[in-house]
Amino acid sequence: MTNNNGTINQHCDVIVVGAGMAGLYLLHKLRSAGYSAIALETGDDVGGTWYWNRYPGARCDIESLDYSYSFDPDLEKEWQWSERYATQPEILRYLQFVADRYDLRRDIRFSTLVKQANWDEGAAQWNVTTATGDTFTGQYYVMATGCLSLPKEPDVPGVERFSGATYFTNAWPHEGVDFTGKRVAVIGTGSSGIQCIPLIAEQASQITVFQRTANYAAPANNGPVRAEHQQKLQADRDAYREAARGSRAGVPLPRGEEPFFTVEPEERERRLEAGFALGDLLTISSSFSDLVTNPEANNAVQEFFRNKVRAKISDPQTAEDLCAKDFPLFTKRLCLETNYFETFNLPHSKLVNLRRTPIKSITETGIDSTEESMEFDAIVFATGFDAMTGAIVAVDIRGCDGVELKDVWAEGPKSYLGLNVHGFPNFFTITGPGSPSVLSNMAVSIEQHVNWITTTLNHLRKEGLQTIEATYAAQEGWVTHVNDYADLTLYPVANSWYMGANVPGKPRVFLPYIGGVDTYRQVCNDVVEQDYLGFELSGSSGSHCNDGVVRFVKPDVQMVLDLIASLEQAPLESLPLEKARQQMEANTANRAPGPEVGEISDGTLPGPFCDLDYRLYRPTTEGPHSVVVYFHGGGWVLGHASSDDPFCRYLCVESNVLVISVNYRHAPEAPFPAAVDDAYAAVNWIAINAESLGGKSGSLAVAGWSAGGNLATVVCQMSQKQGGPKISGQLLVAPVTDCDFSTTSFSDNAEGYGLTRNLMQWFWNNYCAVSERNDPRASPLRAESLAGLPPAMVITAELDPLRDEGNAYAAAMQAAGVSVKHIQAPGQIHTSLTAVDTVNSANGVRKAMSDAVRIFSNYH
Ligand code: NAP
Repeated sequence: MTNNNGTINQHCDVIVVGAGMAGLYLLHKLRSAGYSAIALETGDDVGGTWYWNRYPGARCDIESLDYSYSFDPDLEKEWQWSERYATQPEILRYLQFVADRYDLRRDIRFSTLVKQANWDEGAAQWNVTTATGDTFTGQYYVMATGCLSLPKEPDVPGVERFSGATYFTNAWPHEGVDFTGKRVAVIGTGSSGIQCIPLIAEQASQITVFQRTANYAAPANNGPVRAEHQQKLQADRDAYREAARGSRAGVPLPRGEEPFFTVEPEERERRLEAGFALGDLLTISSSFSDLVTNPEANNAVQEFFRNKVRAKISDPQTAEDLCAKDFPLFTKRLCLETNYFETFNLPHSKLVNLRRTPIKSITETGIDSTEESMEFDAIVFATGFDAMTGAIVAVDIRGCDGVELKDVWAEGPKSYLGLNVHGFPNFFTITGPGSPSVLSNMAVSIEQHVNWITTTLNHLRKEGLQTIEATYAAQEGWVTHVNDYADLTLYPVANSWYMGANVPGKPRVFLPYIGGVDTYRQVCNDVVEQDYLGFELSGSSGSHCNDGVVRFVKPDVQMVLDLIASLEQAPLESLPLEKARQQMEANTANRAPGPEVGEISDGTLPGPFCDLDYRLYRPTTEGPHSVVVYFHGGGWVLGHASSDDPFCRYLCVESNVLVISVNYRHAPEAPFPAAVDDAYAAVNWIAINAESLGGKSGSLAVAGWSAGGNLATVVCQMSQKQGGPKISGQLLVAPVTDCDFSTTSFSDNAEGYGLTRNLMQWFWNNYCAVSERNDPRASPLRAESLAGLPPAMVITAELDPLRDEGNAYAAAMQAAGVSVKHIQAPGQIHTSLTAVDTVNSANGVRKAMSDAVRIFSNYH
């Protein structure tokens, strides 16, 4: 409808912003599903990023066969790529072809800039306004605006003064630019700069590149589409595309399985050379499992890249300047280059290292650095984008109660799955923050999001529902999960656009999701299968919500669980005793060893019935040290003095204490109270003999994990009752404190998180007759009084059957006036708390443990 003032007012089911790769497919998909939709596009044609970025040398950096739509096999047959990495004009032609083939243009309004989008709660619809005052209303509003579409402001002083020509790679003139005979400056050496510099150098009389941060780049080795690649796809296209959807990055490559340093040096070199020669972004990073998590491995491959640069550049200073050194490899997108480095061997090229000689100002005629004044006819800015969030918040988007998205995202974007935002019903982002997006083949991620959104709209329509909105809890849970994953990697170290660090003032938050396309797809499917977990769905007949967090296990804990599951081992409790002990032993053999300590010595001490083995861990620092008597876990049935070796080393080093891990008699051979008697006797003996062991006399704490935590606190109770020895503190890690199996944590975490309900029952059955379990020496939570116990640090894990009894014990001690610090570790399981150097997401809790032990050692 046209209003009196000439503006347009139109209603449709779905309003889409953007007619790039995402917007086009979304339009097609919506239309096929029977929705009316309109796409509003700023450009005067389709193409999105491929419409704007027309700079010389612009190409995709994922092979074109993969960087294509896969939703229609006929489309794939009709379009042939001429090159392995197609140029921008060819990709634009492809997207134009798609728009025409599916007759999409009739639902696209070009040259239309969206300014505002308001959620009208009463009408349950979005009201969208454009720069020219046209208005659109729709039940759903989708931002398909791309991750790298809003150019970053050129933050170089004096930029407005230059009287020559200025160009931006991300808004390149359609008619192209002829640099023949021109003196050209290029600022920026990211993917865009690295692609355009060699081609500009072919024309320019002089090219000067202003480099702030050198980048890692591999040769593209572009050429015709690789025959073997084509054959693979054609042999079974469905399988090929499915493999891409189920891969880490949206390209069918296996995940690297071996850590870098477990591979022989010659084989490492061979893999790196092969990956480098292939000319592909993902092969090198997939060659090993730990390149983005292990700084040493990353550093070794960095050096490989630097040596490649050094070998190419004739001037040693220029070579060093071009070597990336400021950030770990892959934590900014690896660039693919063609003749980039060689350009700096040309006589008319020059590199200005802005770290040494920063730009003072752009002037009327050129650029002044701190060292010289340079004159130019043209300046090219290849300075990047306000990535992932910039284009979204550039529109004034207001959800419930008029709250603006920009404000909600002021401290960094919050989104559920990168798809929807709490407080913004019926609003979707395609490849939004918190989804794999820029860390994946965008074609695959776009299709997955579009399909998910369309499936969701169909579901709402079928169920007679009108709105969908992420809950606060689900969104918070997802944001935590996204950050947890990023924190396991080296990515947060870099000042990259992934971190928002390239735009002054932008909050420093990791923007995409690094768990992988495969993992992410599973998450989105799980959400649907669990009745749209974490979404509130409403209609005229009311609303319903299965609220919850879709991934609450910490990612590295999940990796450990997956690894254990892959071993397909029989449950310990189903095995004969000896076999169970062997299996546990075998499982601990391959653990990360834990930190180096000053000295480890094994010995025995007299127990009440027999000698008891112990292992002593001494710090490197000069003694005497405070002493911590440690009791290992293993359900009173398994384990020995060195079975918690990595954790004992950790405590020794981090708390700077002498750790003495004492073995005790195990059940069922020596049932309750044998272990208790041994533990108490050992503490008494160590208290008396502390000095001869190199410990401080009178400064003794106890610690234990699981059943060992049970023994540690039982010893505290006994020493309290029997008048000694003096214990300065107790560290109880996921302790067994009671024999009650009816707690919520026992039912919620009965299976699937390492320690199971059945295993715990087996431990108890081996250890203690039912008639004796009320004895506080077995179930310390049942003690008449806990008053007067030493200060305690109690750590419980959220996903542990023992969680509630640990929590109850901490609360009971606190109620009895004991000084207690209690942490319930979210997303952790029974075994992960002590998994030093394996489950790094528990590092914070472990630090709290070691701090507590250090503090205990000062109480004497
Ligand atoms: P970018 O990676 O953010 O690179 C911008 C460059 O400009 C960096 O070298 C940056 O230096 C420099 N820069 C920014 N502000 C500056 C200033 N004030 N003074 C001096 N230097 C400044 O941007 P991009 O190259 O456009 O690439 C962005 C992303 O787009 C890529 O990572 C990639 O994902 C995608 N892309 C892909 C292709 C492809 O091959 N398909 C091509 C182009 C872009 P610092 O590093 O020091 O900030």
